[in-house]
Amino acid sequence: MKNIKHYAFPSSVADAMSILMNRKYKAIIMAGGTLVGKTIPASAETYLDIRSLPIRDIKVKGGKLVIGAGVTFDEIDNSEVCKEWAEGMLSQVAAQCSSQLIRNMATLGGNIARPHSFNMFPVVLLGMNAEVMIETKDGKLLMPYADLLKESNLKPGENCIITEILFPKKTKDMHFEFIKLAKTKSSWESYVTLFFSNDKKNPKFVIGALSPRPFCAEEAEKAYAKNKPAEEIINKFQEAVSAKAKGYRAEAAVNLFKRYLGAE
Ligand SMILES: Cc1cc2nc3c(=O)[nH]c(=O)nc-3n(C[C@H](O)[C@H](O)[C@H](O)COP(=O)(O)OP(=O)(O)OC[C@H]3O[C@@H](n4cnc5c(N)ncnc54)[C@H](O)[C@@H]3O)c2cc1C
Repeated sequence: MKNIKHYAFPSSVADAMSILMNRKYKAIIMAGGTLVGKTIPASAETYLDIRSLPIRDIKVKGGKLVIGAGVTFDEIDNSEVCKEWAEGMLSQVAAQCSSQLIRNMATLGGNIARPHSFNMFPVVLLGMNAEVMIETKDGKLLMPYADLLKESNLKPGENCIITEILFPKKTKDMHFEFIKLAKTKSSWESYVTLFFSNDKKNPKFVIGALSPRPFCAEEAEKAYAKNKPAEEIINKFQEAVSAKAKGYRAEAAVNLFKRYLGAE
């Protein structure tokens, strides 16, 4: 923080990009500021405050749910559009963020921009096959969020801006399960976060909090899609979990998965 020399407050994405790409400024994006204030790189000299950018809408467009990256957790929690999507699951997830103060400030874009074990929405976006619209130096880019998690050249906040998060049309009427297992409801530091979808064609078993990036138990998903016995699916899930964590957190993840499958 001590190296910050400038504070920029652009009102268009184009202006924000020109500051971000101008090496002279050494800019870092700040949205709600709940995380960046604690983790600002020593090299940053400009706070690029994006709160005035027109990326704060929640709408349905072309059948997809489109949430602006600048939308706060509180706005998702209270949005009528979100409450009607996937049985209101996105609103319920937003409501589980630790405190009202953080929910008022924290944005969806800020939650997914950088890998962080305890952030909840990366788990949900991966599970729902969400896409992200990104502004890069070469223009707009629409990509699956799963690809952004793997991508190493795109560094949101440093060389690109996430402007929108898009949820597929088919997820509107689907049922999903999201579990945040933590010491208290207001704790950010979950032991494990889980997202389950038992869609037969495309099941999703996503695990968060055990590593900075969430991951899918892919072999368990394949076994589920092929109607394999519950024991085999659980074993595959267990293998995926134990590759990342041991002990009570891994045990809790497997037990919650068994309960979800009705195998306990
Ligand atoms: C006390 C406390 C409790 C918390 N509890 C929870 C919790 O329960 N659940 C949870 O999931 N998280 C929690 N968090 C984490 C944090 O609040 C969230 O990750 C929040 O969503 C970050 O959003 P922000 O707008 O504040 O991001 P910022 O802090 O402004 O930015 C975070 C990072 O994202 C980048 N960035 C932000 N927006 C964009 C964008 N549009 N495009 C590209 N890059 C961008 C920034 O450059 C920075 O690197 C908590 C944090 C604190 C301090």
